[in-house]
Amino acid sequence: MTFRLSLVAVAVVAATLGQAVAQDFPGSKPITFVVPFAAGGPTDRVARDLAEAMRKAMPGSNFTVENAAGAGGTIGANKVAKAKPDGHTLLLWHIGMASTPALYRKLPFKPLEDFEYLGLVNEVPMTLLGKPQLPANTYRDFENHIRANAGKLNIAHAGLGSASHICGLMWQHAVKLNESMTTIPFGGTAPAMTALIGGQVDVMCDQTTNTTSQIEAGRVKAFAVTTAKPLSGHKLLKDYPTLQEMGLKGFDLSIWHGAYAPKGTPEDVLKKLNAALKVALKDPDFVKKQEGLGAVVVTDKRQERAEHKTFVANEINKLKPVIDAAKQFAD
Ligand code: ASP
Repeated sequence: MTFRLSLVAVAVVAATLGQAVAQDFPGSKPITFVVPFAAGGPTDRVARDLAEAMRKAMPGSNFTVENAAGAGGTIGANKVAKAKPDGHTLLLWHIGMASTPALYRKLPFKPLEDFEYLGLVNEVPMTLLGKPQLPANTYRDFENHIRANAGKLNIAHAGLGSASHICGLMWQHAVKLNESMTTIPFGGTAPAMTALIGGQVDVMCDQTTNTTSQIEAGRVKAFAVTTAKPLSGHKLLKDYPTLQEMGLKGFDLSIWHGAYAPKGTPEDVLKKLNAALKVALKDPDFVKKQEGLGAVVVTDKRQERAEHKTFVANEINKLKPVIDAAKQFAD
């Protein structure tokens, strides 16, 4: 009896404390979005724009961004999985949440068990790029050039399991040029872009949130977009063919981003964060910036926490056979 009573008492105290935490949340302590890639890249761009919109959506809050790059995003994701579950440390990550379980057979966290899902954010197409000196101006010339120089060129990516890595794998697999190029990993596609512009690497596939301004300025060459449909609504990207139009049947790759908190974050805090996310995703400045970068904010339904988790579970199942077929593992 005494034991039972004390259990009830503990539960009541815990619930009251939980409520107090949620009522005060976020208080004066900043909320940090951990970005698992280098600063200045596409994931970082989305996180910084989102942090600004979330700050507006939660008056009095202070959102910051921390870059924890390495191992294709898994170092930063693991950091958040192990962080104090108080709502002050969040993760902004992309498709890597679903691709790394297949690429890393020894992943230090479990995507579906170690996180609370806060909602999807956006979808971002990718572009296939070459260094400015590459002697090709159309997709056809580009593919022919790679074919004629098999074994001599290199392709940059943001680490094993990154979106750029997956895109490069899928493309090489689709054109039957598997392992035709040496892969060069970076801590994000921001440093990889610098190397591409400088001509130290030959090829890269990256999200439009990082590539549009470089293409527009003529600092890199773009050859195709990775989505099934042409990006006809975008002033710059409408001029590039899709890989499907170039004969790669079924090629369709868009990089989605989602927000996460460590498992065990109080329910009321999660509700507050999800509510703020929904407001942020309707912020006209945020929406406009995303559109300018070729990205699309997800629909209301996909901003729901449960919907986000179901989507990631499905993506894990969808990507595993693709990665298994490519036979490229990170460990
Ligand atoms: N674009 C990177 C990737 O390939 C991520 C980044 O640098 O933000 O996953």
